[in-house]
Amino acid sequence: KLGNETIKQELGRASWKLLHTMLARFPEKPTMDEREALKSYLYLFGRLYPCGECATHFRLLLQKYPPQTSSRDAASQWGCVVHNAVNERLGKEIFDCGTIADKYHCGCAEEDEKKKK
Ligand code: FAD
Repeated sequence: KLGNETIKQELGRASWKLLHTMLARFPEKPTMDEREALKSYLYLFGRLYPCGECATHFRLLLQKYPPQTSSRDAASQWGCVVHNAVNERLGKEIFDCGTIADKYHCGCAEEDEKKKK
């Protein structure tokens, strides 16, 4: 049982990291096609996320908080709010969404250099 909890937490940390980093790199001015791609990704994520209990809850969150895809900032803030809703449910600390722009880097040198300036 402890083993399963540990694996679920590792999967969660890895998934949030990917999700927030993806949203932090989403175009500042996305095309309709890019917006549609992100929206599809998020709904498919909710269908395919391999922890069933988590996925069910995430799908309810998608209903309550429809994905915001109009800009990088809107998408990143949306991700932060949704993660905070999960944090709240699990009794974890609430993250300050005002600091999120500084937190997630992709390791893609060019883009990260721009961010540091
Ligand atoms: P995590 O919540 O994994 O966060 C990792 C790091 O992200 C934190 O250390 C912090 O630096 C940063 N962070 C925290 N909050 C935010 C935020 N709001 N915005 C940006 N960055 C932030 N587990 C369950 O037991 N039951 C569930 O129903 C469940 N549902 C989940 C649904 C989804 C979609 C995902 C991706 C995960 C879910 N999990 C669930 C896993 C759970 O959210 C955690 O990932 C896991 O418990 C490990 O928690 P953690 O304390 O290490 O930090």
